[in-house]
This record gives sequence, C-alpha cells and structure tokens, in this order.
Amino acid sequence: MSNPLDLTGLYPPFAETIKNIQVEALKINAYVFDGFRSYSDQQALYIKGRSFINGAWVVTNPRLVVTKAIPGKSAHNYGVAVDWVFDASPSRPGVQWSWDDKYPWGTIGSIAMSHGLEWAGNWVTFKEFPHIQNLYGYTVKELYPILTDNSKGLSEIWKMFDKKLGL
Ligand SMILES: [Zn+2]
Repeated sequence: MSNPLDLTGLYPPFAETIKNIQVEALKINAYVFDGFRSYSDQQALYIKGRSFINGAWVVTNPRLVVTKAIPGKSAHNYGVAVDWVFDASPSRPGVQWSWDDKYPWGTIGSIAMSHGLEWAGNWVTFKEFPHIQNLYGYTVKELYPILTDNSKGLSEIWKMFDKKLGL
C-alpha cells in the first residue's frame, strides 16, 4: 500500500477509527501512507539494512533498518497499525512525503491516544514516531501462534478483536 488514505486490508473497525483520526490529522497536513502489510511486504521491509549471513539475517547497515519485526511480529501484519507522513508542500497537488523531525509527530500521537490507540513514539526501545496501532488488549506474542496456524489465521484474530469490542 502506498497511496495516502488507502485503508485496504485493515481490520474494519480499526479502519473506521483511522478515518476519524485522518479528519483531525488533515489540520496538520498529516496522511496515512502505510497500513496492512502481508508477510512478503513485511519481509521486504525487514531485510532493509540486513544481510543473510550464516543462516540468519544480520544488521549490516543500521541506517537503512526500518523495522525490527519479522513477518507476523508487526501489528501491520494484523491490519491494526498505520504509519503517517507529513505533506511538505500542502499547496502543491498530491502529498510531498516528509518524515522530518520538524513536524508535530507528538500531535499525531495525542490524536491517536485520544481515540484509544497506542503511539510508537512512546515506545522505550526503537521509537517509531509515524506508527500508531491498536491490538485490542492482546500482544503480538499472543496473536502470532494464531496467525501462523493454517487452520485459523487472521480471520480468527479479527473475531477475537470483535469480541473485545462487543461486536
Ligand atoms: Zn508502522
């Protein structure tokens, strides 16, 4: 997913929340640029800055590392995370993507938290200022075995989220 506002593949109630957050975020020219990631999407991101050495992925260029999550270990793989980008030039057509420190990332975090979401700018290790998520009370550690169980998978996990929401 690379087009702003493309919420394809997200858990539907999460997508609804993101639409509401986007309305507020537009006031500061912030846009969703990434949401659901398949296993192969996540793998493509994970290998950035890493090389496969002696049977394992090893960080060889830390500047290029964008995630520490292997496939299945990111909230993006469950359809319950999005990343934001700022428009560097709102007067021009389209979104001129920027992740510059000068933008009010904390405002994105505040808006997300006011909607009950978690902001990765608050994480102690590997802060991710553009990233917000909602695992509906679960942890990735709890969900991973279900996602990777061929008989269950993502639809089972979304049913668990539904229960938490009383749907
Ligand atoms: Zn993210």
